[in-house]
Amino acid sequence: MAELHEHNTATLLRSAGRRVTNARLQVAHVLQHSRGHLSASGVLAGVRQADGHIDQSTVYRVLADLRDTGLVAESRFGNSEATYEWIAGDDHHHLHCVECGETTQLSSDLVDRFDGAVLEQHGFRAENRHMVINGVCERCSVE
Ligand SMILES: [Zn+2]
Ligand SMILES: [Zn+2]
Repeated sequence: MAELHEHNTATLLRSAGRRVTNARLQVAHVLQHSRGHLSASGVLAGVRQADGHIDQSTVYRVLADLRDTGLVAESRFGNSEATYEWIAGDDHHHLHCVECGETTQLSSDLVDRFDGAVLEQHGFRAENRHMVINGVCERCSVE
């Protein structure tokens, strides 16, 4: 595991008001080095692969906790199980096609405008850090 990276993660954990524990670092490491979204069992497999020694219940607990800090996004694509992704303040959003399963990035500007309209019309401050919109992509719409 890269030194610099771990140092960064420790700083982020502390500023989120969390103690830096081995389990948190291991889960963070796996998420940071995976491309995209991982299920809890995917995270566990990654931890094992990196020679980590934490059990399944710890992985679930750490994931829920990291989600609460906002460092990790928890999302569901369609009816699949929950997935996790390291976002650490970098907001991003997805369009997910329920037909082919493909996930593409949704522009943050669009979501910012949406959040702005929600604030204007409802006085509600939306916290859309990681939005997933389910629907049908262009390719699947054409028969
Ligand atoms: Zn994502
Ligand atoms: Zn599609």
